Amino acid sequence: MTFEQINRELYQFPGGLNLRTYKELTNSKESLITPLPDKIVLPLQQHIGNPSEPLVKKGESVLKGQKIAQASGYVSVPVHASTSGRIIDISTCPSAQDQSVQIPCIIIEPDGNDAWFELDPVDDFLSIDPEKLQNLICEAGIVGMGGAGFPAHVKLCEGTATAVDTLIINGVECEPYISCDDRVIREKADYIVSGTRMLQHAIQAKHCVIAVEEDMPEAFDALNTLIDDDIELVKVPARYPAGGEKQLIKVLTGKEVPSGGLPIHIGIVMHNVGTAAAAFRSVTRGEPLLSRYVTVSGNVEDPRNLQVLLGTSVSHCLEQVGYQQRDNEIVIMGGPMMGEHIHDISMPVIKTTNSILVTSEFNRAREMPCIGCGDCVDVCPAKLLPQELFAYSRAKDLNQVRALHLFDCIECGCCAYVCPSNIHLVQSYRQAKKDVAVYEKKHAEYEHARHRFEARSERLNFVDDRFDKNKTISSEENPLVFEDKGIEDKQSYIQAAVERIKQKRNKKKIK
Ligand code: SF4
Ligand code: SF4
Repeated sequence: MTFEQINRELYQFPGGLNLRTYKELTNSKESLITPLPDKIVLPLQQHIGNPSEPLVKKGESVLKGQKIAQASGYVSVPVHASTSGRIIDISTCPSAQDQSVQIPCIIIEPDGNDAWFELDPVDDFLSIDPEKLQNLICEAGIVGMGGAGFPAHVKLCEGTATAVDTLIINGVECEPYISCDDRVIREKADYIVSGTRMLQHAIQAKHCVIAVEEDMPEAFDALNTLIDDDIELVKVPARYPAGGEKQLIKVLTGKEVPSGGLPIHIGIVMHNVGTAAAAFRSVTRGEPLLSRYVTVSGNVEDPRNLQVLLGTSVSHCLEQVGYQQRDNEIVIMGGPMMGEHIHDISMPVIKTTNSILVTSEFNRAREMPCIGCGDCVDVCPAKLLPQELFAYSRAKDLNQVRALHLFDCIECGCCAYVCPSNIHLVQSYRQAKKDVAVYEKKHAEYEHARHRFEARSERLNFVDDRFDKNKTISSEENPLVFEDKGIEDKQSYIQAAVERIKQKRNKKKIK
């Protein structure tokens, strides 16, 4: 049964740009399965949150789908071997989020057999309770595949803790070159529709919407033949960055996510189409997240979408599409608007890598002073003041950047795109966000040290009072009054306390 699009009233988000797109380079070609590389490098932090903890040792053999690192904490997910082989090292590699930072990784030498670990599929996902479904999705290592990398189970758990009105499945791909969501929808529409129903069950959402951009007619048709009246399918205008979480919510519902807040605060949960497909696959086939669609485009011989095993190098992906290294070109991970220039193409594809782009059109023009034209303000979809944010970011005035809502900036690049002075606005916001994170970490350490110092001083004052012969104190005023009654001098009292602590520590070690 097919279901025609409901005439949902659509709204406009502020700012944004109508960009020339280059999706036609890749969106009509079938995706290719990338051959097995010589080496698989799996970073232990492919998501937002705590890095995973290794469960394997160098020299061990592993099977495809085997859990090789476990989640550490609530906002974390496990990592699985994307093929069978031998662990040749547990080392470090540059982080895709910040290439100046090294993060731990597990390196596998594939044995070529692609032999599977034992899988445990669930036939009827509607028969299991939402909490169990959330655990299965967490154990499969599923994270947001639109690029953000937020662990999927966290959004689902937060969803069940609060009543969810609407689940939105985001198929709005607004970056000019990226078409991996378009291809995923065309090739795996059944997974996406079933995955949407599964996620709806996992959070018990009342309504469910799948949104695609109006320039994705084939993807729309592929979904439209499969949905029933439990899911609403909506085309949204192709305006950058309509696929941003807050922007798409505005377009579909007219509601605004409050500054510093999350969609769940207004009863909405959003997942990417790739996440829905991966969640469905993981539960019904038992396969954890091991591969993803990646658009490889730009100045290459045969731009197209690849199905890539996680941990495959960018250089191996580029080889599949006829890449020739040229002096005036760079490789970007992500799209031209939000992506990052990568300096080392041996970096691995991770759960959040949606695109690899080879381009010569990058901003080489010299930065000029801001002329206060205000063009950046007009296009900012987050209603920020980009020129002021820039000035305070460069001046490292962290109080002011926070007051100007730096963390509402989605790094869409609209401001930099229109800036006549070629100011590298987004880089300065990214640096400011790092500066704030470093400051907050240092501040937390300082606060911790201060509390320890104050507690120590307070205890030493109690000890001084306890042995002050001129003072008569009650146990209410000083808890140490009845402690170690037999000890008469201060030094022996402190020594006895130190011994007790040592004994306690030794006992813990023995256990
Ligand atoms: S990068 Fe940030 S400041 Fe610039 S337009 Fe986008 S949201 Fe606004
Ligand atoms: S667009 Fe560039 S020059 Fe114009 S106000 Fe913004 S930062 Fe300044």
